[in-house]
Amino acid sequence: MRRKLVVGNWKMHGNLAQNQGLLDALAAALNDRTGADFGVCVPFPYLFQAQAALTGTRLSWGAQDVSEHAQGAYTGEVSAAMLNDFGARYALVGHSERRALYGEDDERVAKKFVAAARAGLIPILCVGESLGEREGGVTEAVVARQLDAVIEAAGLDLFARAVVAYEPVWAIGTGKTATPEQAQAVHAFIRERVAQASRELADRLTIQYGGSVKAANAAQLFAMPDIDGGLIGGASLVAEEFVAICMAA
Ligand code: PEP
Repeated sequence: MRRKLVVGNWKMHGNLAQNQGLLDALAAALNDRTGADFGVCVPFPYLFQAQAALTGTRLSWGAQDVSEHAQGAYTGEVSAAMLNDFGARYALVGHSERRALYGEDDERVAKKFVAAARAGLIPILCVGESLGEREGGVTEAVVARQLDAVIEAAGLDLFARAVVAYEPVWAIGTGKTATPEQAQAVHAFIRERVAQASRELADRLTIQYGGSVKAANAAQLFAMPDIDGGLIGGASLVAEEFVAICMAA
């Protein structure tokens, strides 16, 4: 039985005072909830704050991106080892905003995945199709390409550390959620794709859904057999809403 995992992606939101209120509220509400795992991916400057607020609680924290390089002359980059210094458990890789706005292609995403996994972090690999790709009937081809690039570069030993987040681009921040059936179909496809390399790994793999998850639709999504929790953007910035989503898991 796979445990559900709910992770908040704060994106570029927050400040010290707001974050403190949110982190304290989450720790108070979720610390005795043992039925699922919870985390938040915060902007880099607030990793220390997340570590201070959440150490000793059942909540984990992580980053929204990671460099593919270990160290060196890469101005502005943050390495996986640096994330480890702040106790991070997760690093998002290949979020659609990174792919679309910062030109991260499959090869770069795969390198970031490898860097994160080698450093002992759990990479949350984001995959998903655009609206045009869905309407063009190539959802599975796109998701397969995004997955295969990482499996090939990382190998199964490192891929075994991963979480996959299926995030249809048309559902992120738009208020349009995939129906539970639409999401389930792609999740099942992802699991079968991974099973072609290893059935055992596929059965263990946590596959989160992301894209306008709210308290009002979380339970139906999480009830689907291959949906193992959620990656939550906007709704993770509101303590009550995020807690309710976590409770649904
Ligand atoms: C995300 O940023 O990964 C996301 C799913 O955002 P939202 O929940 O706001 O659609």
